[in-house]
Amino acid sequence: MITHMGIPVSPGVAIGEALVLDQERIRIPRRFVSRDAVEEELERLRRAVDQVADDISQNRDLITAELGEQYGAIFAAHLAMLRDPTLQQSWERLIRQEYYSPEHAVSSTLRKYAAVFERMPQRYLAERAHDVLDLERSLLRRLLGLRREELTQINTPVVVLAHDLTPNETASLDRTKVLGFATEIGGAGGHVAIVARALEIPAIVGVGPFLAEVEPGDLVIVDGDSGQLILRPDPATREHYQQQADKARTLARGWERHCHEPALTLDQQHVQVHANIEFPREVEVCLERGADGIGLYRTEFLYLSGDHEPNEEEHFQAYREVAQRMAGRPVVIRTLDLGADKLGGSYADYQEPNPFLGLRSIRLSLRHMPLFRCQLRAILRASAYGNLRIMFPMIATVNELRRAKAVLADAQEDLAEQGVPFSWPIPVGIMIEVPAAVLMLDQLLPEVDFVSIGTNDLAQYVLAVDRSNREVADLYRETDPAVIRLIDTTVRQCQAHGKAVSLCGQMSANPLCTPLLIGLGLRALSVPPANIPEIKHVCRSVSAADCQKLAQRVLQMESAREVEHCLREELKKIRP
Ligand code: PEP
Ligand code: MG
Repeated sequence: MITHMGIPVSPGVAIGEALVLDQERIRIPRRFVSRDAVEEELERLRRAVDQVADDISQNRDLITAELGEQYGAIFAAHLAMLRDPTLQQSWERLIRQEYYSPEHAVSSTLRKYAAVFERMPQRYLAERAHDVLDLERSLLRRLLGLRREELTQINTPVVVLAHDLTPNETASLDRTKVLGFATEIGGAGGHVAIVARALEIPAIVGVGPFLAEVEPGDLVIVDGDSGQLILRPDPATREHYQQQADKARTLARGWERHCHEPALTLDQQHVQVHANIEFPREVEVCLERGADGIGLYRTEFLYLSGDHEPNEEEHFQAYREVAQRMAGRPVVIRTLDLGADKLGGSYADYQEPNPFLGLRSIRLSLRHMPLFRCQLRAILRASAYGNLRIMFPMIATVNELRRAKAVLADAQEDLAEQGVPFSWPIPVGIMIEVPAAVLMLDQLLPEVDFVSIGTNDLAQYVLAVDRSNREVADLYRETDPAVIRLIDTTVRQCQAHGKAVSLCGQMSANPLCTPLLIGLGLRALSVPPANIPEIKHVCRSVSAADCQKLAQRVLQMESAREVEHCLREELKKIRP
């Protein structure tokens, strides 16, 4: 039995057989293939060779056009190497006679060639080894890419163990088959964590290197509450976890019994508990768990789960479905928050040195007008079918807000001219995720109807800590006094301006923080649907007056550690 500690990001315990994915995010290929599969595997390899050859030819043409024949010749040499009959014969022989998988055959052949080059005394020739290894990588990527779909085609229950997963890959996991997952890299605030919670799949990220210690099919335990990853547990450990999982289920059932009642504190203060969703299909769970509305619909997942850019009709259908099924309850649709770690699909190759400080979110929307206009038109059209509100993410300046509103006004005029029905004026809000926005609230608030505090980003920007970087995960704390002071300022400013305020960062789903947030004056929280019953239960167990005293104490504290200790003691009073 081996135990590793990671960052718990999605609660619950998963016990099951390991499905191991390597750095290329695919299942580590088997070393051998069955006799019957040889022809099929050879065909797969031929397709991969053709695809790599196409890639190289394209690069050759591009470089020749840009820099001239001389440079294009570099790629011509790669192409000649790839098509070399001796090379092809040697990997085909390994597949036909030794039953090697194409990945192993390609890798072992090319590595032998590279080793020969490396031994050459002439530096010029020794460096050719890089070209050979480059070819190996390209072929492997193509070969493995051809198998990527395996992640969506899992047909037995497994625990996925990977170096990393993209939000897109996480979104494609089938929760009836994937019992849980653990990754070597990643941090608590990343979007992989968000999707895991949305899918209610127990998950741990940022475990550090562990894949070399596990074989596909090993029994593993992912403890999404404590962050423990246990490889090949002994029978006693397995029994212990089984019991814990049963206990958690019983507790959750108790909370669920009252989830449709309003969350009234002991002194009768009503706390609205809304849901955060990523996909329209989640509405069902929101209603089952007693959501008072949708406080955050992360629409960028429309982009991340498909293989093409959604058109206006697809946007519209998704929003109308949510609006209709929520039947008059408020639904806050956040415009695209694409960029940084969420980019995928056609944007996958787009690279920035500092993506979280780059062309992200509202900045990206304002730069890509057709995309932004298309989404705003769709939201407006869907507003005729329910109680919709629009929220702009990552607003840092008054100018950005005004520009976004101007695009909305344009979309509204166009629809009105075309006689398309929509609801107007539609409430407009912004997310408070950048410290600059908190400082500028007196200027921003007169121009909006509501705000929602996004502590996931607010914490990363105010503390200068990347929310998905395991190396600095210990510094990424939503309970840091700096974050709490920003929330306090925001709530007080909103109260002064008579504007509605809620909090939709992950902090709102942490029961430890609920009394503090009530004490800071928040009366609306937006949490993943799975957390609604528990958060409502905590709201009902405290009095707002006591919470206010708690908040005053916490505002004087100097560290996240001190804050967390105090909040833990407080929660113990209601939940020993
Ligand atoms: C946040 O930043 O707190 C938030 C809710 O937005 P996201 O997690 O999607 O960035
Ligand atoms: Mg955010």
